[in-house]
Amino acid sequence: MLGLMQTKGLMISSILTHAARHHASAEVISRTHENTTHRYTWRDVEARSRRLVRVLQKLGIGAGDRVGTLAWNGYRHLEVYYAAPGMEAVCHTINPRLHPSDIAYIVNHAQDKVLFVDSSFAALITAIAPHIAANVKTVVMLTDAGHMPEVTLAPGMTLACYDTLMDAADDDYVWPDFDENTASALCYTSGTTGRPKGVLYTHRATWLHTYSIMLPDVMNIGANSRVLPVVPMFHVNAWGAPYAAALAGATLVLPGRHLDGPTLTEILNTERVTFTAGVPTVFLGLLQHLRSSGSRLTTVKRIVTGGSAAPPILIDAFRDEYGVSVEHAWGMSELSPLGTFNTPKAAQAGLTGAEATRHMLKQGRVSPGIDMKIVDGEGRELPWDGVAFGDLMVKGPWVASAYYGDEPGSALDVNGWFATGDVATIDADGFMEITDRSKDVIKSGGEWISSITLENIAVSHPDVAEAAVIAAAHKKWDERPLLLVVPAPGKTVDPASVLALYEGKVAKWWLPDEVVVVPELPHTATGKLLKTALRATYKDHYIGRP
Ligand code: ADP
Repeated sequence: MLGLMQTKGLMISSILTHAARHHASAEVISRTHENTTHRYTWRDVEARSRRLVRVLQKLGIGAGDRVGTLAWNGYRHLEVYYAAPGMEAVCHTINPRLHPSDIAYIVNHAQDKVLFVDSSFAALITAIAPHIAANVKTVVMLTDAGHMPEVTLAPGMTLACYDTLMDAADDDYVWPDFDENTASALCYTSGTTGRPKGVLYTHRATWLHTYSIMLPDVMNIGANSRVLPVVPMFHVNAWGAPYAAALAGATLVLPGRHLDGPTLTEILNTERVTFTAGVPTVFLGLLQHLRSSGSRLTTVKRIVTGGSAAPPILIDAFRDEYGVSVEHAWGMSELSPLGTFNTPKAAQAGLTGAEATRHMLKQGRVSPGIDMKIVDGEGRELPWDGVAFGDLMVKGPWVASAYYGDEPGSALDVNGWFATGDVATIDADGFMEITDRSKDVIKSGGEWISSITLENIAVSHPDVAEAAVIAAAHKKWDERPLLLVVPAPGKTVDPASVLALYEGKVAKWWLPDEVVVVPELPHTATGKLLKTALRATYKDHYIGRP
């Protein structure tokens, strides 16, 4: 027997209409390219997004078409976020930090018809134009007529100005209802090996993910929150912040392109931000600035960090020196992205100091709706004892079932589990801790060594700015850990003093065989260590050693 409840679908447009109707005066604040501050309200975002639908219609966009963006976090980008899915098209956010040939590949793979591009990518769009002309008909620069940059497109492509198009459109569009499983957004994972793969989100998955991240034990976003996503809107929907802020009626602060310590401190304080989220590197930069300038954060209460493992120094320094709680999250593009979040349960609530930090290094427990397990090489489930580590598998209504262009379900095993490619432990309280990417784990004498654990210890050294541990081939042990460290500005690193830090913290056989000091480490387009490049250079470092 079917129940008798309303069957209104979970439309992304209704996230926005909720914000416009019930939080009409809550603000969306953006730092623009021209370094001015743009302010308007959720009511304005909704009206402007309807106006943008009219623009998209004029540009020939219809249901199912892909609308690409190459843009920083700003209000015009936010309007594309809502207008495209709202009219049953797909908002395809592209990571501008990728290699231009990858960007052209992604645009063509997605068959984007229109691209919305920030002025700062004028040279990039000029460079790739000849390679994307088969699909892209119009490039709309996200600016006003007075700030149109020099752009040369290929024959057959049209250049347009966002504000000019918007000024000429009306906003009498009415948001339609359609199947909540309709595609809403497309995001390619940066893929450290091989070509990027597209993850195609739905309205329903986005709604459920949005609900889950707002929860008190997750990001805890409410109408009184002032949210600044440092994480770019081209990186897995800025972890859902643009949707969650709207549904909560929170103030959303979009920082634009400059994310250095001084700029970030200024905007966090001026706009009275309470909550911010991003990868550890950005907050390490913020910390360095606060320490060297003596500045304080006047309103920020919580920093959520994820995308790569949170170094202990980040958690300690913000808590002890600035009274800010650094909270650890884990996710991936295929999970919309949030999978786990580290909010203590009663058993951990009393932890302080080093014990609290140790606990916060875990990536957390599942956000409700997601299930997870760890399995060994034969697919057998491993115990939740915080020690056994194995391949992390997930399932849930906001987990991808296949990559864009593939058969539905093709990314899952026979029981519907998605293999994350991460290796993890889970403790008795359900807190998961990533020990490695499966391809980065070090296999020494048949046992596994966690590169993340070793990196965390290395960066707790006062003279070390960044560290990477990789597996180097070894005659006797198959692989042994090799530690690469970058000195902090103006410092030199004494390898022996780094190795001394490991004493008592890990088993003796986990100790890196050698510490190599390097001026810098390579990173992916999303700011993660590019270990493939390091392995290519250093994999034979121990060759010939007994
Ligand atoms: P890409 O790196 O291609 O942009 P994702 O952003 O989807 O792709 O990256 C997801 C991966 O990032 C995860 O599978 C995991 O390896 C890593 N990751 C994410 N959050 C954390 C975290 N808190 N700690 C350690 N690794 C993390």
